[in-house]
Order: sequence, then C-alpha cells, then structure tokens
Amino acid sequence: MKHTLPLAALAAAVASLSFADEAAPAAAEAVAPAPGTIRMITEATFPPYEFRQGKEVVGIDVEICKAVAKELGKTLAVEDVEFDSVIPSLIAGKAELAAAGITVTEDRKMKVDFSHPYVRTGIVFIFAKDKPFDAEKAEEAKGKRVGVQNGTTSADYVREKLGQEPEMFDSPASAFAAMKAGKVDVVIADIDPAKAVIKGEPDYDISELLTVEEYAVAIKKGQPELLAVLNKVIDDLDASGKLDEIKDEWTAKAEAAAAAEEAAKPAEEAAKPEAAPAAE
Ligand code: GLN
Repeated sequence: MKHTLPLAALAAAVASLSFADEAAPAAAEAVAPAPGTIRMITEATFPPYEFRQGKEVVGIDVEICKAVAKELGKTLAVEDVEFDSVIPSLIAGKAELAAAGITVTEDRKMKVDFSHPYVRTGIVFIFAKDKPFDAEKAEEAKGKRVGVQNGTTSADYVREKLGQEPEMFDSPASAFAAMKAGKVDVVIADIDPAKAVIKGEPDYDISELLTVEEYAVAIKKGQPELLAVLNKVIDDLDASGKLDEIKDEWTAKAEAAAAAEEAAKPAEEAAKPEAAPAAE
C-alpha cells in the first residue's frame, strides 16, 4: 500500500474541504497587486452600482473605490467574478477591496470588515402585473418558484422568510429572463437593479421593500489603517454631497446604457440567421 500524499498536503486538502464555500483552495493563487495598484473585486451585473460599458466595469461602486485608490496614491484595477465568489476571493487575497452592492450582514461581518455604509436600500419582488406580489403579503410567495441571484440576501430571504430553496441565477437580469420564459413565478432582487431590469418592460413591476439593507465596501479583516482610509473617503464623499452626485450620475448612465441596449435589440434579432428547420 502506498501513502504518497504528504501529511501537510492531506491536511490542506481536508481544510479546503471544510471551507469549500469560502473558496479556501483559491488562497494558494493569491498574488500581490501590480505596484501602485489597488484591486477591487466585484460582480458587474448590478446597475447602477457596477455594470459593463464595453469592456470596462463602471458604476457607483467603481467611483467609490477610485476615490479610495486616489486617497492612497494608487490606481484602481477592477476584477469581475460571480457574486458568490466576491467575498471568498477577497478573503483569499485576490483583491484588497470588495464592492458589489454588498449588504452588511451579521454572517458576513464574521468573515470580513465593512466600511461605513454608503447606501440604504433593500430587496423587492419583481413580478408580472397579471401575477402581482405584495411586500405586505410576502408569504403568498411560499410554494412559488422564486428566482434570485446566487449568494445574495434575496436568497437568504427565500430560505429564512419563505422557508424554501430559491431558484438560483447568476444575475438579477437572468432571473428576470427566466420569469419571462415562465420558468419562475416571481423574482427577488435589490431594488436598484430591479428597477433597471423592469425598465422598458410595461408588463412587469416591483413591490415595496421587503427588507432594509445597507451596502458597504468589504476588506479582509485586521487592517485598521485601510479601514480608516475607506471610512474617511466615504464620510468625505457623503459630507461634500459628492456621493449623491455619483449616485445620480451613474443611475442616469446605467439607464442610458440599458436604453441603448434595448434599442439595439431588434436589430440584433433581425440580424440573426433564420433558425434551421427541425430535422424530421
Ligand atoms: N445586496 C445583495 C447582497 O449583498 C445583492 C448584491 C449583488 O447581487 N451584487 O447579497
């Protein structure tokens, strides 16, 4: 019988198993940022906080992190991953800042440190007007197929408040597309991306808030100096009125980007080749 696996490797393998949901194996891949750079990790399907404009990731969170980088005399590099990888990647050392419309929760506070909050918000139902859902009667969603983005507070809500497993998607927009295709009955998402998703969709609407949540920037625990810089930048942006300006500017830009995408759609459809006839 051969025992080729060294004990340390075995221990590491076991450790990575027990922390699989925190992506511990990724820790080995952590690399230092390029000199003069600070990295922000995000998930860019969340307008107006982060979305893609061409290849670039832009939005409110990017502007906040750019201000942090400036305060530190560095330039910002942005990395885009799935939402449920944002915090694990931060913990694994793949970025110094995580900003992705991340709600401050007790559970996350045990894993990372949060800046002062920069937005007060919450989650809503997104529903078809002929199948309405009401925040006051949220329990009516029990037993229905509820679509959410993976790893979000919306997913927590479905488990904790509705007592069931949500249907998981990789973005609020893909959950919404599934509802339009009849695959889920209702979607739950944060109100701002929810508003973006129903823009130009007259048959759909959103409910009142189901929760009150706050977004903050997350950093790896145990960095009081970085946390102090983060808080100073956010407090200054807030006090000077610049934070509101950033929010208004990027809300308008996200809307314009969505409208442009919408306008481009029929052209894309028309450009599609005819579907091949089904084989008999
Ligand atoms: N605010 C929600 C959360 O933190 C959703 C964030 C997101 O999908 N980007 O879970």
